[in-house]
Amino acid sequence: MSFHGMWAELLPVGRSFASGGYRRFAWTGADAECRAWFREQAESRGLAYEADRNGNQWAWLGDPAAGDAVVTGSHLDSVPDGGAFDGPLGVVSSFAALDELRARGARFTKPLAVVNFGDEEGARFGLACVGSRLTAGHLTVEQAHRLTDADGVTLPKAMEAAGYDPEAIGPDPERLARIGAFVELHVEQGRALDLTGDAVGVAGAIWPHGRWRFDFRGEANHAGTTRLVDRHDPMLSYAETVLAARREAALAGAVATFGKIAVEPNGVNAIPSLVRGWLDSRAADQPTLDTVVTGIEKAAREYAAAHGVDLDVVRESFTPVVEFDHALRDELARILGTGGGDGRDREIRVPVLGTGAGHDAGILSGSIPTAMLFVRNPTGVSHSPAEFAAEDDCVAGVRALADVLEGLACT
Ligand SMILES: [Zn+2]
Repeated sequence: MSFHGMWAELLPVGRSFASGGYRRFAWTGADAECRAWFREQAESRGLAYEADRNGNQWAWLGDPAAGDAVVTGSHLDSVPDGGAFDGPLGVVSSFAALDELRARGARFTKPLAVVNFGDEEGARFGLACVGSRLTAGHLTVEQAHRLTDADGVTLPKAMEAAGYDPEAIGPDPERLARIGAFVELHVEQGRALDLTGDAVGVAGAIWPHGRWRFDFRGEANHAGTTRLVDRHDPMLSYAETVLAARREAALAGAVATFGKIAVEPNGVNAIPSLVRGWLDSRAADQPTLDTVVTGIEKAAREYAAAHGVDLDVVRESFTPVVEFDHALRDELARILGTGGGDGRDREIRVPVLGTGAGHDAGILSGSIPTAMLFVRNPTGVSHSPAEFAAEDDCVAGVRALADVLEGLACT
């Protein structure tokens, strides 16, 4: 089945009529439809299908036990009201690239697999990349068992309801040991390629990323009777801190976002007693991120002091920089830069990009050599129905992935 055919089949699955976006959450009906589609694609190509102990799906060409396998793929689940491309573009392109290699008459010297990692977006249980984290041992079985969705359904119960055995989940080092390289193609989640004018790029690194909770504690009081000079209003310090975050991020070429806030008592006619804001900040490297967050916290303390407000800052999570395997990245750039292994003579410039978003390839990079290809997204918008990749660019992505797989897995 062609790229178009595959794309058309997936397009209606889990789509919300109201928003036009996708709601393909892990272990739901829409997810099951995506999984059935994956299995069908595997079997219709004569690939050996299997679901691993953590619910990730694999389609094998050749014997996995031979080792040094080349694996490509991505995920099929989505964020709430996500776009059509984040995840599915990688999986569909993987099958399409395999078809192209077969059409080229490529001779495979290594086993090749297409993978669909389960629960990448973490939309249901609040933790991203659960399938790859479990496989790599970055998430313990106990932690996974405690994951619960908004309706109180635990991950094991959800997996069981979807026909998977939750008792089997856990690290899978034997599986990882059989993989020589993992390449994930993904729609770009920014506008770097649009700005450079390239259809396809190679990932350099995933930016370090953290979340911090800022608790501004003031004094609740009547919004009508309390004189301005008598107030200890934490909303003011919070508001000034939001502006400081923007300023510090702009100065450093980083990003900083207060996207979530909780207010107590949360009354229209009450000066708040507490404003809790969550900061998400990411930068190209650790020192820059440190500078940004230190700058924001320093400003926040000054604003809090000026208003007689107490401030606590707690780091809730942190993910260090992920550098993709340099040798594999250079190999990708070489393959793409010379037009791949198909004998065609073309010079292609392949930009190397950093990214602020997490991926299964980032999780696995600690265990196996991983690399990523990005396909241009002219809107730069991601996790929204506005996310987009033009047809020509999707075709260029498939060709680039086929070139890479041919260079890595064929003679
Ligand atoms: Zn994704």
